[in-house]
Amino acid sequence: MGRSRFISQQLRQQVAERAGFACEYCRLPQSLATSTFEIDHILARTHGGPTEIGNLCFACPVCNGAKHAQQRARDPESGRRVRLFNPRRDQWTRHFEWSDDIGDIIGKTAIGRATAVALDMNPPRIVRLRQVWASLGMFPHDD
Ligand SMILES: [Zn+2]
Repeated sequence: MGRSRFISQQLRQQVAERAGFACEYCRLPQSLATSTFEIDHILARTHGGPTEIGNLCFACPVCNGAKHAQQRARDPESGRRVRLFNPRRDQWTRHFEWSDDIGDIIGKTAIGRATAVALDMNPPRIVRLRQVWASLGMFPHDD
C-alpha cells in the first residue's frame, strides 16, 4: 500500500485537514489560491518515499513544483548544503518568520534559509499579495 503512487481521496482529505488547508511550506491558505493544492511526498517517490500519511504534506503548486525531488539545498548564508524543511518533523516558526510587512518569508535557521531559496518562497508577485492580504487582516492565519 505504501508503495502505491495512488493517493486516495480519503488520504488527501486527511493530509489537507491536518495542514489546516494551508501550504505547509509557505503557509498560503487554499482559500486564497486559485489553483488546487497538491499532496507532496516529503521524501520524494524517486528516492523511495512511501505514499503514507507520515511522508505526505499539503503544498501549494508553487512550492511543490519548486521542491520537485529535492531533499537538500544550499544555505545562502554559510554555503553549506542542508536538508530541506520537513513539515512532519520541524516546526515552521522555529525555521521561518514573516518580515514586518508579512511580504517575505525569512529563514531563521540554515534549514529555513535553504528551503526559502530552494522552494522560491518569495516571488515578487506573491510577496505583493501577502502584503495586501495582511493589510486586510486576511493573512497569515494563526501559527
Ligand atoms: Zn506553498
